[in-house]
Amino acid sequence: MIKKRFIIKPWLIVGMLLVIPTSLFTAIELLKLNDQEEVIESIYTKQLESVLYSINQYSDDIANNWINILYKDIHPADYESTLEQPLNNFPQLESFILHPLDSVSLNLDDFRISNDTLRQEIISQLQTNSNEIAQLKRYMKSGYRKIIGIDLEYRQHLSMLVFVSEQENHYYLNILLVNAQRFISEALSPRLQMVAGDDLIIVVRHSKTNELIASSLLNEAPDEVIKEQAIWLLPDYKLGILPVGISIEQLARDRARQNIGLLILVDLLLIAGAWLFYRNVKRELHLAKVKSDFVSNVSHEIRTPLALISMYAETLQLGRLKDESKRLKYYDIIYRETQRLSGIVNNILNFSRIESGRQKLSFGQVALNEVVDEVLTNYHYHFNEKGCKVTQNLSPELEPIKADKQAITECLINLVDNGIKYSGDIKELTISTGRKGKYQFIEVKDKGIGISPKEQKYIFDKFYRVTKGALAHHAKGSGLGLSIVMHLVKGHNGQIELESEEHAGSSFRILFPINNQTTKA
Ligand code: ADP
Repeated sequence: MIKKRFIIKPWLIVGMLLVIPTSLFTAIELLKLNDQEEVIESIYTKQLESVLYSINQYSDDIANNWINILYKDIHPADYESTLEQPLNNFPQLESFILHPLDSVSLNLDDFRISNDTLRQEIISQLQTNSNEIAQLKRYMKSGYRKIIGIDLEYRQHLSMLVFVSEQENHYYLNILLVNAQRFISEALSPRLQMVAGDDLIIVVRHSKTNELIASSLLNEAPDEVIKEQAIWLLPDYKLGILPVGISIEQLARDRARQNIGLLILVDLLLIAGAWLFYRNVKRELHLAKVKSDFVSNVSHEIRTPLALISMYAETLQLGRLKDESKRLKYYDIIYRETQRLSGIVNNILNFSRIESGRQKLSFGQVALNEVVDEVLTNYHYHFNEKGCKVTQNLSPELEPIKADKQAITECLINLVDNGIKYSGDIKELTISTGRKGKYQFIEVKDKGIGISPKEQKYIFDKFYRVTKGALAHHAKGSGLGLSIVMHLVKGHNGQIELESEEHAGSSFRILFPINNQTTKA
């Protein structure tokens, strides 16, 4: 006998090992959806920042390149005071100013250039940034040339690039006057387009006026950007970037949602798989239980008639029975028990033939009333012994139909047998025949224990037995009878109708087509 707890276990195993952890994981992931979006967003923002960084780096490279070219021609050591030199070969640069920077503090007394207003502004800006300039000098002493950008108000888009240089232990303040607009649109713009490609839009605007200076889309530019960064060398100008078509939040949300969607799909597949697994295991366990019950039920059913036969045969064999009527009664009992045994064996043989597909029906002309008559005559003694009252209600106008007489007899025996077996105190059977549409039928009606609607769905399954209720529990059987009936009726293209009410009785009706074309089961 298989213990019940093994049947419950698959639920627990499948639930604990697969479904619960994955569902929990999905729930946690769903809760973390916002965090994930933020993480993806911050990664993406960092990527945009690094694109801007690379553009800034590039503008630094351009400036350094200019300085290297300039220094090929200039020898600042020859100049003791300010040198001002126009730069006609560099379209984006206006002039180059060099001023000695040897004293500890910034000394701009003899800082002289041609335009006095410009001079005033440059001096004022240099003094404001004197700390940075001191820092530039320290950098230079350590061998690093850093350039800083300072915007000038003297003229729109005029900026100065400031750095310190060293020549034979003398330090010089270097100023490059640059036309910021030209620098951005001529020198930086091609780079913007290259870096932006098809996925990004990069724009440069003036920070204060918001004037568009350059765009990777040439003359077009979006109003809003995702990330902004000032140009290192031109602090009054800012680089802005945004992805084409889709917003970064949207992108992050789509990514996160896609992942969660996949996870849920995997979960669903897993749950479906787990459910199928559970169902299969449950079915297998149920079958194993039912088969083992079957063996014990059948052996029990066989043992009882065998014990009776051997007991009465032994008594007769001893020859002590003088009373002739008693002897006849014993013979009769032996005969009936043998009949009962052969009924059981017949069912098992039928079942095994059905299972192996060897069951063949042999069709001939069959009168249903005749089948009923024969079975009732054969069972007459049985009914008397069980105290069962049988009423016949046979329709007189039934023509013979094409059917297998033996198969219909087996069906009827099984139904009658059940009718008696599952009747309590009121043992009354009504056996009717009749016609219904294209069918002729035999109906066996009892006033027995009835069958609950739930059980009605299963009683035609092989091995299925109802074990609830005292009578059903004690009645003997193999659970094969109705499954054989169902199979044989189907072999005739027939139908079974069942009406039953608990504690009131049942009516089984087997219907056979009048014009049957079927030739085998
Ligand atoms: P068995 O009678 O050997 O158990 P069956 O396949 O003939 O197997 O019947 C299956 C189940 O259907 C029975 O165990 C019984 O519970 C129920 N059943 C069959 N016929 C009747 C009936 N006439 N009244 C009540 N229950 C019935």
